[in-house]
Amino acid sequence: MPEIGVLALQGDVREHVLALEEAGARTLAVRRPEELERVDALVIPGGESTTMWKLARAFDLLDPLRKRIEAGMPAYGSCAGMIMLADRIQDGMEGQETIGGIDMTVRRNAFGRQVDSFESDVRLDGMDDDAPYHAVFIRAPWVERVGDDVRVLGRAETGTNAGRIVAVRQGRLMATAFHPELTGDHRVHHYFADLVRRAMEQED
Ligand code: GLN
Repeated sequence: MPEIGVLALQGDVREHVLALEEAGARTLAVRRPEELERVDALVIPGGESTTMWKLARAFDLLDPLRKRIEAGMPAYGSCAGMIMLADRIQDGMEGQETIGGIDMTVRRNAFGRQVDSFESDVRLDGMDDDAPYHAVFIRAPWVERVGDDVRVLGRAETGTNAGRIVAVRQGRLMATAFHPELTGDHRVHHYFADLVRRAMEQED
């Protein structure tokens, strides 16, 4: 059974831990480089990407995170976590850095302040055989541009922002602009846990 870390610097760590355990993974809260070394994969939670970035710097985690992702560790980021996995961001705080890994440009707070929080159905490639995914967005980013190696897994379905990219995958890395950890529907966590299991089998 894979051990999946949840980056526990800031954000909704506990909700991801519960969703991952429900998907059959063992979990570990990651705050230190030694903990990062131990895990097979990592989830980066929702929260506030500027705070996460500053804490990752303060805890000497930013470079170890980049190295493990470059070395092929599977990772999944939701909302602020999506921002952290983006190679490029728009509307970031001055000097804001990311871990990177996914060849995409993500716009912070893209859905606008007047709709700080909303819900929408999203069709998720490979995860929505039974029903569309009911997604919760909170001061969410969207993906402005993706590189050739990035697969779009989902787009906003309704409203003026229909068509915006809100879920992506590039190899072993994936990201959603919404928060599947906040609903009882754990299809995204199951999908990621399967991705991690397959990645580990390839390495055996
Ligand atoms: N707006 C936040 C940021 O820039 C993300 C919001 C969230 O994770 N719910 O990090």
